[in-house]
Amino acid sequence: MLKGQLPLVGLTGGIGSGKTAVSDGLAKLGAGIVDTDLIAHQITAPQGSAIPLIQKQFGAEFIDPSGALDRVKMRSLVFADPAARKSLEAITHPLIKQETIRQAQHLKQEGVPYLVFVVPLLVESGSWKPLLDYLVVVDCPEETQIERVMHRSKLPRNEVERILKAQASRAERLACADIVIENQGTLAELGAEVLNLHQKILQIQKDRSSSS
Ligand code: ATP
Repeated sequence: MLKGQLPLVGLTGGIGSGKTAVSDGLAKLGAGIVDTDLIAHQITAPQGSAIPLIQKQFGAEFIDPSGALDRVKMRSLVFADPAARKSLEAITHPLIKQETIRQAQHLKQEGVPYLVFVVPLLVESGSWKPLLDYLVVVDCPEETQIERVMHRSKLPRNEVERILKAQASRAERLACADIVIENQGTLAELGAEVLNLHQKILQIQKDRSSSS
């Protein structure tokens, strides 16, 4: 529906690799950002569109007193029960897709030069790659990911390692990448990489419009 007009860029990377840091930098440069992780949080926040469906399917005990999904309870259920995970995804995935398309169309109407879809599990899902023109992978050593997430989310090392193990490996992600953003230096160095990426995508867009 969107393909063939403005460049569609997927942005992925393992937990704590720096996807948000990169997408924030691109947003400042004028890119249109659709963050599917943010959407997943919004639909499960108080008054979120997934809440009534989750309550019906799983019971009121999975909704916390604020009206949001009880993430801790749901995480432990779906970790132990693959069928429950499927039921949850059957509720959330179509709603995330619908909101992703809505935001992308809105940004397109606003005249952004390209769209960036931030998708944490893009390589794992398989369904995104054919929809995109370019896949950008934010990369850093696993030890750096672990240290950042322990520091940011105040999680113990074994919990971060468990999350890392459930995701695609660094090598699997790199094998899918069209463009790799190295994020093992300072945030200032990342800023320079982001500017470079932005210019590269603008050039692709220019080449595309001059050849059509
Ligand atoms: P998640 O998958 O958990 O959403 P993410 O890939 O979006 O993570 P960020 O949130 O951008 O990663 O970064 C994780 C943490 O590491 C943040 O606290 C961020 O400020 C910090 N960080 C990212 N890049 C750097 C860097 N180059 N130097 C120092 N800190 C960094």
